[in-house]
Amino acid sequence: MTLFSDADILLRERQINESGAPQDRKRMEKRKLNALIALCESPNCRRQTLLAAFGEASKPCGNCDICDGKWALFNGAVAAQKLMSAIHRTSGRFFSGHLANLLAGRATEAIRRHGHDLLPTFGVGKEFKPAEWRSIFHQLHAADLIVQDQEDRDRWILTGAGRAVLKGEAPLTLRGEIPLSGGRKAGVLHTLEEIAVAQAEDLVPPSEAFTPVKPGGETAPLTANQNRLLAALKAKRLEVAREQKQPAFIIFHDKVLIEMARRRPKTNEDMRAIPGIGADKMARHGAVFLKVIANCDGDS
Ligand SMILES: [Zn+2]
Repeated sequence: MTLFSDADILLRERQINESGAPQDRKRMEKRKLNALIALCESPNCRRQTLLAAFGEASKPCGNCDICDGKWALFNGAVAAQKLMSAIHRTSGRFFSGHLANLLAGRATEAIRRHGHDLLPTFGVGKEFKPAEWRSIFHQLHAADLIVQDQEDRDRWILTGAGRAVLKGEAPLTLRGEIPLSGGRKAGVLHTLEEIAVAQAEDLVPPSEAFTPVKPGGETAPLTANQNRLLAALKAKRLEVAREQKQPAFIIFHDKVLIEMARRRPKTNEDMRAIPGIGADKMARHGAVFLKVIANCDGDS
């Protein structure tokens, strides 16, 4: 159920901008438009979302397209972190279309005019198309992770809930752009697998959304035994990623797996000492990966 196309949204925005109405009025119209888009993009039950907009709590209806599971859902924490970083870097002054181009690495005229092609966030979100980033933006808005600050010319800012997701303290489920209906279902699952494979090989660590890549500082290459373990760890990561239909780097970054191969942790404590393995990752994946390490022959 797509109520809006991007063209509709852009047309309505242009109408508002060119209406000749006072600034206050334009901002109010844009807020109304955004609230409506958010409603359509919600990853939660349609009925629940609609009633929530009127301040009424309800349970998922079990009948709408979302409840029916027609949309691919994915762990959206990293995508949200990238988008929030882009909002922060641009002082909250830009809307979904511009941020989508920024993240997808499209050096449009507007991106270059603002020097946004020079930001560390430029192109860190190539795993999604601009249209998908626009959808993610609207979903973050729908989930109240980002709001417009009416005291400051409707600048986009993070809410408390948004900051919790940014810091990795709260989980976030998002909805994919493509409805999983009919013959397209197989195609989408195939694409998800491709994403997992590609990212296992060639991933952009989410941390790079926040810090520019520093050249140099390379550590010693792995030994043959460590490389064998690394291959086993990557295979396990791919298996887990496919099971959970998530990009591989959501499970563990390459950097973390390399460190695992280097240190060969034997206990939970050893594992937790590796940078990038927090309590949450440990609880989810620690045991499985410790087992891979225990079962892999060869000393370090
Ligand atoms: Zn529903």
